[in-house]
Amino acid sequence: MKSSEILTCFQCGTCTGSCPSGRYTSLNVRWIIKDSIRKDISGDLELWMCTTCYNCQERCPRGIKITDEILRLRSVAVKKGKVLPAHRAVCRYLIETGHAIPIDDLHISTREQIGLAAPETVQKYKKALNDVKTLLKSTGFDELIKE
Ligand code: SF4
Ligand code: SF4
Repeated sequence: MKSSEILTCFQCGTCTGSCPSGRYTSLNVRWIIKDSIRKDISGDLELWMCTTCYNCQERCPRGIKITDEILRLRSVAVKKGKVLPAHRAVCRYLIETGHAIPIDDLHISTREQIGLAAPETVQKYKKALNDVKTLLKSTGFDELIKE
């Protein structure tokens, strides 16, 4: 369902002009807002180019919660199975190790060489890691990111 607030957009372009990501990518946030009203954009790559800096949302003269809307649109995309391969890989790391960026063998051995133990994280403790896995499973997160 579209928020009625979005319908007040008058395509002034302030959001696009304020968008740091749009200076370097094909993201045009004004188009995202316009297109999301009229069609399903869950397959648009540009949805994932937003850095969620909130510049556009702070400056929109209509007070439209643009960044929040982008996050909502992303949730819709993920529920439809549209997850980018790189994001899927990060999610898999989270499920397997409890970390989006796990500590790999190289870093563990480098730490050992300088006398540091493995950091105190769920990756080190099997029970804690199992608790994280149970938690993620209970939310349906693992199903969401399945190929
Ligand atoms: S700044 Fe607000 S009103 Fe202007 S184009 Fe963007 S969303 Fe629409
Ligand atoms: S929140 Fe996203 S769309 Fe808005 S200005 Fe920042 S990068 Fe651009």
